[in-house]
Amino acid sequence: MRHYFHSALILAYAAGQLLFGFQADRSLQVLHLANEGLLIRSGGQALLIDGLFRPYRVYAHLPPDQSRALEAAQSPFEGADLILVSHIHGDHFHPQSVSNYLSSQDGAILASSEQATAAVRSVLRRDEALRKRLIDITPAVGKKEKRKFGKIEVTFLGLRHGAERHSWVQNLGHLIRMGGKTLLHVGDAELSSANFRPFKLSKEKIDVAFLPYWYLLSEEDRQLVGEQIAPRRIAAMHVLPSEAEEVCKKIGQALPDAICLKEPLQVERF
Ligand SMILES: [Zn+2]
Repeated sequence: MRHYFHSALILAYAAGQLLFGFQADRSLQVLHLANEGLLIRSGGQALLIDGLFRPYRVYAHLPPDQSRALEAAQSPFEGADLILVSHIHGDHFHPQSVSNYLSSQDGAILASSEQATAAVRSVLRRDEALRKRLIDITPAVGKKEKRKFGKIEVTFLGLRHGAERHSWVQNLGHLIRMGGKTLLHVGDAELSSANFRPFKLSKEKIDVAFLPYWYLLSEEDRQLVGEQIAPRRIAAMHVLPSEAEEVCKKIGQALPDAICLKEPLQVERF
């Protein structure tokens, strides 16, 4: 009898390990940096998106000491295998910040538009080892391209930037599968059915969509998000520090389940 009891205990322990070990592997940690910047970790892998930029106009930014630690790939910002950039505007990207992270973090690569990689290439000059860690991926507007980086799968989406004056800017959306979850980051894509329709994102079972907050302010736009993206959860970002309180309050009233990313170093788990 004692023997059986002992075996049952071992079995229960093993099942628990399997269950919780499995869950731990699936759990995703998202560290909000500032503006649309995120550091996403799952298992042993991590990616950085739109986090490597410097103070720019009125937009949110990390405090200077955190910003230095980020560029030096120091804790809690170390270990990103993959750097993604939606577009080259200064509130999403600075070529020197990306170059600094690449030189600080062994093996990290940048996979982004020709405009972003060209800007980084120009600050790297002749550093051939680092230049090899830049990958150009620039699907045309309405087109997509899927790539795997270790266990992270990214579909790069050619999504037009909002506003006509920015039509020269290559803006990429990123549909990311990692840690058993599907995430969407759209940069500053124009919210219109014409822009999103080619990607049929509502069929991708998106767990979390990270969206510019202005997508969520009117009933009409929220409906478009529901039709075109249909995410299980929404995280609002690109929030200006001066408007954070008001914007997050509005979004909270319309979408009580939504997360409002307004604080630097805010952590969310999915
Ligand atoms: Zn922006």
